[in-house]
Amino acid sequence: MTENSLALYMHFPFCLKKCGYCSFVSYTNRLEHISDYVNCLQKEIKLRTDGLCFHSLYFGGGTPSLLSPAQIADIISGIKTSARILPDAEVTLEANPGILTLQYLEQINRLGINRLSLGIQSFSDAELAVLGRLHNTTQARDVYKKARAAGFDNINLDLIYGLPHSTLLSFKTNLNEVLKLAPEHISLYGLTLEEDTPMYLQVQKGLLPFMDSEIAADQYQLAEEMLDNAGYRHYEISNWAKPGYQSLHNLTYWQNRPYLGLGVAGHSFFQNCRTANDINLDEYLFCWQNNCPPEPSENIHVDLANQLAETIILGLRLDNGVSAEYVENRFGPCVMDVYYPQIQECVELGLLEEHDRCIRLTPRGRLLSNEVFWRFLP
Ligand code: SF4
Repeated sequence: MTENSLALYMHFPFCLKKCGYCSFVSYTNRLEHISDYVNCLQKEIKLRTDGLCFHSLYFGGGTPSLLSPAQIADIISGIKTSARILPDAEVTLEANPGILTLQYLEQINRLGINRLSLGIQSFSDAELAVLGRLHNTTQARDVYKKARAAGFDNINLDLIYGLPHSTLLSFKTNLNEVLKLAPEHISLYGLTLEEDTPMYLQVQKGLLPFMDSEIAADQYQLAEEMLDNAGYRHYEISNWAKPGYQSLHNLTYWQNRPYLGLGVAGHSFFQNCRTANDINLDEYLFCWQNNCPPEPSENIHVDLANQLAETIILGLRLDNGVSAEYVENRFGPCVMDVYYPQIQECVELGLLEEHDRCIRLTPRGRLLSNEVFWRFLP
């Protein structure tokens, strides 16, 4: 990462099947448009990355592992034509178990994908069925083994806690399975069900129990304990890494540095503006096929007061917290002065700690982080 380098996110809104909890922008009945989409994305890359320098590339989705190695190669080469990719750039591809072969993994590894993020979610077949995932636990272990054999030495596993029917014991079994595999990075998210997702409707109809928030909190605390004992650093509220394996791409977001998000639903923070591409696949394809770049669905100039607040809220997600020196160098005002009342209140509530001109969440603050964050909103 350099002073002027950015992160580049590319969204691939295609999946084989919609999972029961999914509220991401992904289409299941449009696989025949992947090739058109890649052509359009190439045009967006050419227009929007000209002259830029990237410290990370992220193929996210959706299911970007539906892209062929040739398509991935074309995209990377398109980026290299108009922009610079730093030699030590982190290049991540999100992948779902079940559809990946050893040959595919070897090919994409050779193309420069140096980090694989596997959507494992659970090591219980019953839980995977409730989530509506396409893979089972045998396939999950199998793909992990293949990824290692293909040469991936930086693997993230995504896990979900707070699942219906899960208990502290069943979650412990899940964590033990993860630890047996020893990935370099673990992302752990609590299940949240947006309205209109199939699982939300099942809960509403009483077909699925609503997760007990106390059990979910106990599961999170258990993860903190077990992963800490296993040598993982809990460097961000939802993320753990072995030393040296923090996600460079995601750190860009949490440090509130500039990034570009391309493709359907891509979000960017660049030149003091937050912009969002529309979520409509047809519109994206139509506009780019007619060489008429679509207007962003959102384009907001972020003034310094908001950038300061966002930098603090995002930075507090990290275990290092936010240092007054960093904020002063970037924005001028001292965070301790600007937010004195909020900081004192959170310290008194046991949610924040202040040490050496640095503020960070306490363990209790990590559990109740939203209680802290809203206080810093301008
Ligand atoms: S694989 Fe991911 S993006 Fe696709 S439907 Fe499932 S949760 Fe959504």
